[in-house]
Amino acid sequence: MKTALFVVLAITLLVVACSGSRTPADRGELPENAPPANNAACAPAPTNEPEPEPEPAPKKRIVVTTGVHGNEPSGYLIQDQLAELGFTVHGPCNPWGIDNNNRHLEDGRDLNRMFGRTDCPEAEAVKEWLKENPPDFLLDLHEDPDGTGAYLIQHGPDDEIGRKIIDALKDQYDFDPAPKYLMVQGEDGLLKPTLPVLRVMALGKIYGLGYYAWASFGCTAIVVECPGSWPEEKRKAYQLAVCTTAKRLLEE
Ligand SMILES: [Zn+2]
Repeated sequence: MKTALFVVLAITLLVVACSGSRTPADRGELPENAPPANNAACAPAPTNEPEPEPEPAPKKRIVVTTGVHGNEPSGYLIQDQLAELGFTVHGPCNPWGIDNNNRHLEDGRDLNRMFGRTDCPEAEAVKEWLKENPPDFLLDLHEDPDGTGAYLIQHGPDDEIGRKIIDALKDQYDFDPAPKYLMVQGEDGLLKPTLPVLRVMALGKIYGLGYYAWASFGCTAIVVECPGSWPEEKRKAYQLAVCTTAKRLLEE
């Protein structure tokens, strides 16, 4: 009887001791806080080969369009300079207007109200060119014959670049403190139509190149305006300064 008791006790102690000492690994489980399977100990030894150079970010295509209104020539007059600086330039969009110093097309229509239609050959030519050169960012260079200060009309409600361009240039050029365009009131040189306003413009189908570029390519598109009364050299210098400042900001 004593022997039997001893055997039972010994077996019990052995079972308790064994179950207490079993590790999760013994049970076929991973312990808590286990390192991942590919831990450093298992990783291949490091080599002395240099890290590959990271791929440079693809360059943004900054498109500049000129001469939509033929009596606003300063953008057209600097377009060779812009092309040399790496901009993708198209113009004059209204060649007859440039030749005749006339805002309108030869048929009397305003090219910058024709981009929601399909019956204007000059607008269709610009659209075709844009499809072949889809912009990441677009600047459409204009002048305002009645303007008192420079201003930007930015299509791209969530982008701050228009404000940054103005901040960079406001010591050199006078910006209109309260610019107005159609139903949009701007401030400190910037008109930035909100999304609902842009939607209303779309319904009207009388929009211009800037709206078309934003709506078609999803890029921020800025109409650059300066007073037509500024001397020609100042207008050209301003247009160039806006373009190069935008390029610098985009490539920062
Ligand atoms: Zn214009």
